[in-house]
Amino acid sequence: MQECSLYESWGRFPKVYHLGEYVPRNFDEADIFIQMVDVSVLPRGKGRSYGDSCLNQNGYLISTRLLDKFIDFNPVSGVVKCDAGVTLDEILKVFVPKGWFPSVTPGTKYVTIGGAIANDVHGKNHHIAGTFCKHVRCFELLRSDGERYLCSRDTNSQLFHATIGGLGLTGIILWAEITLRPIMNSLIEAESIQFNGIDEFFQISLESSGYEYTVSWLDCQYGGKYPVRGIFMRGNHPLSVDGASCGIVHAYQAWKSVPCDAPSCFLSRHTVKLFNTAYYHKQIFRHQKRIVHYDTFFYPLDGITNWNRMYGKNGFLQWQCAVPVTADNMAIKTIIHKIIESKLGSFLAVMKEFGSQPQEGMLSFPMPGITLALDFPNAGQKLFSLLEYLDSVVIKAGGRIYPAKDSRMSEETFQASYPDFNSFKAFIDPKFSSSFYRRVHRLR
Ligand SMILES: Cc1cc2nc3c(=O)[nH]c(=O)nc-3n(C[C@H](O)[C@H](O)[C@H](O)COP(=O)(O)OP(=O)(O)OC[C@H]3O[C@@H](n4cnc5c(N)ncnc54)[C@H](O)[C@@H]3O)c2cc1C
Repeated sequence: MQECSLYESWGRFPKVYHLGEYVPRNFDEADIFIQMVDVSVLPRGKGRSYGDSCLNQNGYLISTRLLDKFIDFNPVSGVVKCDAGVTLDEILKVFVPKGWFPSVTPGTKYVTIGGAIANDVHGKNHHIAGTFCKHVRCFELLRSDGERYLCSRDTNSQLFHATIGGLGLTGIILWAEITLRPIMNSLIEAESIQFNGIDEFFQISLESSGYEYTVSWLDCQYGGKYPVRGIFMRGNHPLSVDGASCGIVHAYQAWKSVPCDAPSCFLSRHTVKLFNTAYYHKQIFRHQKRIVHYDTFFYPLDGITNWNRMYGKNGFLQWQCAVPVTADNMAIKTIIHKIIESKLGSFLAVMKEFGSQPQEGMLSFPMPGITLALDFPNAGQKLFSLLEYLDSVVIKAGGRIYPAKDSRMSEETFQASYPDFNSFKAFIDPKFSSSFYRRVHRLR
């Protein structure tokens, strides 16, 4: 047990004290600990959430890092059963050589299966494959009454749908069964297309519906003829065995590391503008095609260890919204305009059109429409005022904000984002809590 420690999440804001972090070596130890303590607990994976949904001020964290065993694999169906602390990185290392790949992956492979379920994470193939939990067959949930609940679409189905995207509040997931998808090799046929303006983005997005993976990088500091420009990236797993076989997996080693907190001037408006210009022009032709390793396509940021230190000691906030697509797409245009005007954004801005698959969890974030995610260095009150304004545009447009990225949205914004929150509350385990939960559901 690590005691009385200051913890932070990936955004490094906020930093809060906990009574400690308990690291059970097996499911029984987790059970005994939860029943023994008389303060709140919260499961913790790799802490890759950006805000306070993986923090539990003045309570305990229960780390799943030693719950990391593979239990079973069916080489015909591609179903893998593993402990909740197994990471996507570990799944890739074991199963890509056998010809299997995660059905859905977020933009980092350093997440646990428990964390991916509790945020019902999405990837570049949401428009085709839905969220991570669409490919979860079942899991076992331990609650503070000492009971272990097998949860699936048929058994304890309400608890299953509450735990999906349930932010770790319904109990601790011990193990899960997830379905992988077959691949021919470890490569991706990738294309990148420069675009100018939001309307052109939508046009390319429409033409790309047949691609399994799509996502766009946005330059919000362009200041040219169009308010915004960017690069639309799309790709597929190759359908033939040409090229590297699955056995030839060039494990992607982090090639750089940020060794300490960068000075605050490191990511000034001018350096971001320089980076954006260089990134936009890194391709000679407007439309380029390449064959790349899956690491390059899915996890470019994982190549730099501790890249979150680039934002300095005050950390940063990520803001991610989803809004419905409309005829004029006025909401997303207003949001982008406000961000450009504020000059507060960084170079990490991505946009993607979600598909219309039904929501898996009561609090799942993805919804039919467009999602925009941006990093902002923590500039204090002026940033918080901007984000509050952006929240109001999102809510007015019938959209929502992503809890996995959040450390400041108001109770009103959260509850307007997630109308099923009242039904969800019935499934919260009385001993489980988080800093995020207490912020968006003030106990009056
Ligand atoms: C570079 C980067 C890119 C990202 N890209 C995407 C993206 O494309 N799409 C996307 O959706 N997200 C993305 N994320 C966010 C990330 O995928 C999620 O925050 C994910 O849930 C983190 O998993 P984790 O294991 O680190 O969990 P943590 O951050 O430690 O915890 C997340 C939540 O899961 C709960 N939890 C963890 N383990 C368990 C368990 N065993 N039982 C019950 N609850 C549990 C925690 O209590 C907490 O509420 C990205 C993050 C980074 C840093």
